[in-house]
Amino acid sequence: MVTCTSCQKQFDEAFMRMTETGQVCETCYQPPEAPSLSKRLGAYSGLAAGLVPFFIHFSWSSSHSENGVGSATVINPVAGVFGLIALVAGGLAIRSALSTSDGRNKKVAIAVLTCLLGLYQLMHAYQHVAVGS
Ligand SMILES: [Zn+2]
Repeated sequence: MVTCTSCQKQFDEAFMRMTETGQVCETCYQPPEAPSLSKRLGAYSGLAAGLVPFFIHFSWSSSHSENGVGSATVINPVAGVFGLIALVAGGLAIRSALSTSDGRNKKVAIAVLTCLLGLYQLMHAYQHVAVGS
């Protein structure tokens, strides 16, 4: 007979399952939490969103001149929208990655990358550039 480390009852060895914390009975046994697909998709869709502006080039620009110096304002709504999505998704992914134990470093790295990508896109969503005089 083996004592379950969870409920402290005795069971036949055939009913026991080996876990990180010791042997537990069938009833107490909980399979290791499989990384949920939605969490994975969350991390990767954020990353994908951050990459979209690289493929879709669309921008509004308006130029004006002031005191003989020309400048142009370029607004890229695609970079703005997808950059924001990537930033938010990356932030959420960092939070969930920090609370996981397996493959944590890799998940955090992907999440941080997603955030940085989002920031990068947001920085390019609005640009005010000087036009050569
Ligand atoms: Zn038990």
